Amino acid sequence: MTTISYEAVPTVEGDVAAAPGNTLVMKFGGTSVGDTQKIRDVARRLVTAREAGQRVVGVLSAMGDTTDDLIRLAHEMSPKPHPREYDMLVSVGERISNALCAMAIRDLGHEAVSLTGSQAGIVTDTFHGKAKIVEVRARRLHAELDRDQIVLVAGFQGVSTELEVTTLGRGGSDATAVALASALGGACEIYTDVEGVFTADPRVVAGALKLPKVSYEEMLEMAATGARVMMARSVEIARRYGVPLHVRSAFGDSEGTWITKEENLVLEKAIISGVTHDTSEAKATVLAVPDRPGIAARIFRALADAGVNIDMIVQNVSAEGATDISFTLPKTDLPAAEPILEMLAAEIGAKGVVYDPDVAKVSLIGAGMKSHPGVAADMFEALGEAGINIEIISTSSIRVSCVVRATEVERAVQAVHDRFRGYAEERVGA
Ligand code: ADP
Ligand code: ASP
Ligand code: MG
Repeated sequence: MTTISYEAVPTVEGDVAAAPGNTLVMKFGGTSVGDTQKIRDVARRLVTAREAGQRVVGVLSAMGDTTDDLIRLAHEMSPKPHPREYDMLVSVGERISNALCAMAIRDLGHEAVSLTGSQAGIVTDTFHGKAKIVEVRARRLHAELDRDQIVLVAGFQGVSTELEVTTLGRGGSDATAVALASALGGACEIYTDVEGVFTADPRVVAGALKLPKVSYEEMLEMAATGARVMMARSVEIARRYGVPLHVRSAFGDSEGTWITKEENLVLEKAIISGVTHDTSEAKATVLAVPDRPGIAARIFRALADAGVNIDMIVQNVSAEGATDISFTLPKTDLPAAEPILEMLAAEIGAKGVVYDPDVAKVSLIGAGMKSHPGVAADMFEALGEAGINIEIISTSSIRVSCVVRATEVERAVQAVHDRFRGYAEERVGA
């Protein structure tokens, strides 16, 4: 049995030979399987790859807005849907699309079988709604591929170590596909509704350019700061196991974007890879926190223990022995964070907590900015000239992020992209 463990070094157990190198995992997103005609087109693409001699695994997302509809249904039924039942419900969308695709492939005269995440051996931890893949037990997949089947795997889901159905978080079919490619030793193609990874969201920014290549590190930063074309965790898995990714259009045959190791790229002159934006976070401010050691540790430890993902943090200058602490967190984590923060504020003697959901984050990403000191200043200038106020700033060696008003985010991302347009053109030509 071939087993890949994501918590440790990948292991290949003895009784199955190493996976043949010509396995191809092809993942199709929601828009790409939006109706039965589109699923027929996907079936044809999978069959073409099989006829070219590949061992083919298809990973399909749920059709169109199915997942959104299922989530809405859960909240219509219950103000706080039970996590286990929530996953039982929202994992259904992927079963529908993959089963339909298997039917279409059979009608084209090929063998195909659709599997749930559980049947495909996707083993996860027990965190319902945002489970992580811990292992792929690939025995069934190998058996089906050996029988000349085109194998369809329902994306976005697995089975927990306690044998419950789990889902992997929004965009989780990307993680399914990359984990399968790594377990099967194959390549991975991500088919979506744009032609690749662009220097900014092509649906928002006029003049965004398609990147021929991007490093795992840059893609990870872009995904983590809002470029939803790839789920961040899937890029992490790809980087860890060296799975080459090709992001491309489901509606044509043009070359897309290759995501690969940095050493495969010529980046000396390429300062930026993109400008991203994210409207999924809210800002919380704990007011007039007593200014003494240990307070920040208490607040952020309690939030971490509740599984709340904190992103940017600012602590203002202390005035009269008290200071405000502001930070951003996913809007979806607010229900978990609010009671904890209210309780802590009372305990530590803070004045209170205020929440602001109307914020957005604009980020500039690029491996080359490490050696170019003026990049952050240029970004702030571009926002300043557009009359956009910056509320929080954070940086890493390859990223600068600014929190702005949500109503201004599209103008902000356009202004920053315009300022770095020359660098983007250089990069695309690199
Ligand atoms: P899928 O359903 O195929 O997984 P997603 O909606 O998750 O597709 O991701 C594709 C979308 O990501 C695109 O339609 C595009 O609007 C958005 N996007 C955001 N940033 C970028 C970027 N930098 N490059 C490409 N697409 C981006
Ligand atoms: N259908 C799931 C979602 O909408 C998973 C995916 O599309 O990747 O988030
Ligand atoms: Mg997606």
